[in-house]
Amino acid sequence: MPGKLVGSIDQGTSSSRFLVFDVHGKIIASHQIEYQNEFPKPGWVEKCPNELLDSVTDSVNGCITTLKKLGYSASDIVSVGITNQRETTVAWDSETGEPLTNAIIWSDTRTRDVVQRLTAKDKDSKIQPICGLPLATYFSAVKMIWMLENVDAVKQARDKGTLRFGNVDAWLIYKLTGKNITDVTNASRTMLMDLKTLKWSDEACKFFGIDKSSLPEIRSSSEVYGEITSGPLKGIPIAGDLGDQQAATVGQLCFSPGEAKNTYGTGCFMLFNTGETPIFSKNGLLTTVAYQLGPNEKPAYALEGSIAVAGSAIQWLRDKLGIINSAREINILADSVQDNGGVYFVTAFSGLFAPHWRDDARGCIVGLTQYANKGHLARATLESVCFQTKDILDAMNADSGTDLKLLRVDGGMTNSDTAMQIQADILGIKVVRPEMRETTAFGAAIAAGLAVGFWKDKNDIMSQTVSSEFTPQIDDDARAHLLEGWKKAIEKSLNSA
Ligand code: ADP
Repeated sequence: MPGKLVGSIDQGTSSSRFLVFDVHGKIIASHQIEYQNEFPKPGWVEKCPNELLDSVTDSVNGCITTLKKLGYSASDIVSVGITNQRETTVAWDSETGEPLTNAIIWSDTRTRDVVQRLTAKDKDSKIQPICGLPLATYFSAVKMIWMLENVDAVKQARDKGTLRFGNVDAWLIYKLTGKNITDVTNASRTMLMDLKTLKWSDEACKFFGIDKSSLPEIRSSSEVYGEITSGPLKGIPIAGDLGDQQAATVGQLCFSPGEAKNTYGTGCFMLFNTGETPIFSKNGLLTTVAYQLGPNEKPAYALEGSIAVAGSAIQWLRDKLGIINSAREINILADSVQDNGGVYFVTAFSGLFAPHWRDDARGCIVGLTQYANKGHLARATLESVCFQTKDILDAMNADSGTDLKLLRVDGGMTNSDTAMQIQADILGIKVVRPEMRETTAFGAAIAAGLAVGFWKDKNDIMSQTVSSEFTPQIDDDARAHLLEGWKKAIEKSLNSA
């Protein structure tokens, strides 16, 4: 074995982390830097790309300090993988290496008008069969168009030929190694990649008016892209790149068709491995690349159900309503009541993603009576993501033709036993939470490790031990009653614009 450790940069929506794993998949050291996004107008979410980069380098520095205290050195790290918030779009200038405007975060809905215009233009629905995605504010191409139409510096760089667009992975790889590279999973979130050829699609680029020369080169998720040029990791190759949800799929070792995971972070994302052929959804799901673990390996595809708001609803209770002081406290409140008391909370702050894809849906709290208290609201907040997961699971079962028997879960919100029990009750299937919760970071470490022979192949990676299983504890009638209430609440949200 060439070295002892493999590193993973996990650039999420609310924090950046650097983690170092050993060959058994054990975390040896980690460091996290939390940060706040900016919300300059209703529906707008953005962040300075240099601050994203700084949060990554600070987390690397913090982790390396810890590692040294433990008797290791940075040179024990054989390679580094990157996993990142997907769709979030960065524009920079190839001459100066500087960002041209703030990154538009994936959940931002400023592009509603762009999407309406493009939907009218895409009369024959030609785009989704190319890229696997519906026209929605979520994806990178519409964010690129918005920047080209509204930011002078972006327009000028395009005219000069120095404009570069990328998701956060491409921005970080560019700043850390000087290379213009993205991977197939990140490229599959832009609407510009042909899912079958794994190349930028001429037709899609023409439709969106994006010049291919402004886009990074698409590579597999597991290969050496370049060496880090400065800082404590100088000389170490970046050798793995996966969008965060795809990384969690790899980190949960969902390598066989029919296996699925659901990650509850800021948003919530279920990915269902469909094997070597992309399946195009008839039920509002996305088709995406799950991973391609090497330039000569075949890609695996996935059906994906995306929920825009999950943990961020808990942050809203904390930061905007002030009824809890920390995310953890939501569980005390939710456990203080026996049930939701008839209260349903549709957390459609950024419209509704899968399976509805309605950017005009709005958040609503329904079923309030004078009986309701903050415990009911806390419970309804946890239930909201569980109901949305149920809607997605139904769509997955319909698209794939098989019923999922168990759901593997991870992400910050799975720290809540209350939420996971509610989830098992609402789905009516077993929910399985692994002991090692950093599955997203682990997925990127796996990609980086495989690329340099740290692990021989997928079978060489230790299977994780299961720490908790949640089994349904309510009967079918109780479940049907809850789902009936949710259905009515969703109707209100869809008709609230
Ligand atoms: P991301 O990768 O999107 O930044 P994480 O996976 O770190 O997100 O999850 C963060 C979310 O998890 C936060 O929005 C927070 O509300 C939620 N969370 C963290 N701990 C708990 C807990 N004990 N109970 C409920 N929710 C939690």
